[in-house]
Amino acid sequence: MPTGMNRREWLRASAWSAAGLALGLETTACGKQPREEELRAAEVAGLKLNSNESPYGLPPGSREALVRAVERSQFYPHRSYPEFRAAVAESEGTTAENIVLGAGSTEVMTMLIHLAAEQGGALAADPTYFDFVSYAEAARCPLHSVPVTDHFVHDLDGMAARIGPDIALVYICNPLNPTGTIVPRDTLRAFCEAASRKTLVVVDEAYHEYVDDPHYGSMAGLVREGRNVVVTRTFSKIYGMAGLRVGFGIGPARVIESLDRFRMNFASIACTSLAAARAALGDSAFVRGVREKNRAAKSYLFGELKKLGLAYIPSHTNFVLFEVPRDAREMQAQLEDRGVLVRPFKIKQKNWIRVSIGTRKEMETFVSTLHSVI
Ligand code: PLP
Repeated sequence: MPTGMNRREWLRASAWSAAGLALGLETTACGKQPREEELRAAEVAGLKLNSNESPYGLPPGSREALVRAVERSQFYPHRSYPEFRAAVAESEGTTAENIVLGAGSTEVMTMLIHLAAEQGGALAADPTYFDFVSYAEAARCPLHSVPVTDHFVHDLDGMAARIGPDIALVYICNPLNPTGTIVPRDTLRAFCEAASRKTLVVVDEAYHEYVDDPHYGSMAGLVREGRNVVVTRTFSKIYGMAGLRVGFGIGPARVIESLDRFRMNFASIACTSLAAARAALGDSAFVRGVREKNRAAKSYLFGELKKLGLAYIPSHTNFVLFEVPRDAREMQAQLEDRGVLVRPFKIKQKNWIRVSIGTRKEMETFVSTLHSVI
C-alpha cells in the first residue's frame, strides 16, 4: 500500500485501475466485485445501484419452485440439469446440443475465453463489460480492443477491419455495458454473418429483455442457421436472480461440445436455482411488467439528469451512464459515504457514473443524494 493512503483510499485506487489499465484500454473502471466497504455501505442504506441487479426480485412462480426444490436438496442435479437444458433448447428453438448452462452467463463466458486463449486472442469494444476484460486477463487471453464510436456504440467497421488470424473470438455486448447502447439488428446481423466466417463471434445479450427499440433483435437466429456464433443470456437481470447464478449460451453443437473441456464441474448450478429458472422460462407477463417499471423509473431519471444539466447516454437497459463534472471516483466515494453505491468510469477522457435503475422510489433517493454531492 503506498504511503500516505489509508486502506479505504488504496482499495479504491487499486480497484479503479485494475484490469483496464493492465490491458492498455482507454477506459478504466472499478474492480470486478463489490468490495467489503461497498457491501457494508449497501447494508446501511439498502441502495445498491452498482451491479445492475433488479429491484423487483424473481417471478412468484420461481419463488414457489425454488422453495419446493429445497425439499429435494439432498439429490445431485443429475436429472434437473439436463431437463433444464432441454427446456432452454425448446424455448430457443434449438436442440439441447446447442445449449451450454453456466452458473451465470459469466461461467459460459469464461469457458469461451479459455477456448479462445488456446487459439489466439479476443477482440472487444472499449469500453465493454468489464468482467469480460478481467476474465480474459485471468485466462491469459490477449485482448485487443476497438474504441466505441463518438455515439458510444460498437464500431463494427473498425472491429471487422481488426479481425485477423490472431483473433479467435469477437465479443459483442449488445446492449453494451456500460453505455447501454445497442447495435440495430440488421447491422449486427450483417457483421456477425461476415465475421463468423473468419472467427467465433460471441454476442452477450444479458440485457436483451429490457430493450423495446423495434430496431433491436437477438442474434440467436444465426445459431439456428448454423453460423459460428454463440449468444449468451442470463437470469441475473430482468428475472431478478443474480444471486441464484443461472445463465446459458446458445451456439453450434461443435463449439458447445468443445467447451466441456473447460467445465470445472458436472453441474455448477444448484437444483434450487435450476428450478427457479425453469419456472421463469416463458413468463412473458413478468418480463413485460419489469420492463415497464424499469422504463418508467428510467425516464424519471433521464428527466432529473436533464434538470441537473448532466449529459447521459440514452440507455436501452436497466442502467444509465451519465457524465459528471468532477473526478468520478471522488463522486462515487461521496455517494458511497451517503450509502448509495454506483460505478465510476473514465471513458474518452471524461468522467462518468453508471447507475442501475432501481424502483421509482429508489431513483428519487438517488436523485436527492446526487443533488447533495453535485
Ligand atoms: N453480461 C453483461 C454484459 C453484464 O453486464 C452482466 C452483469 O452485470 C452479465 C453478463 C451477468 O453475468 P451473470 O449471468 O454471470 O450474472
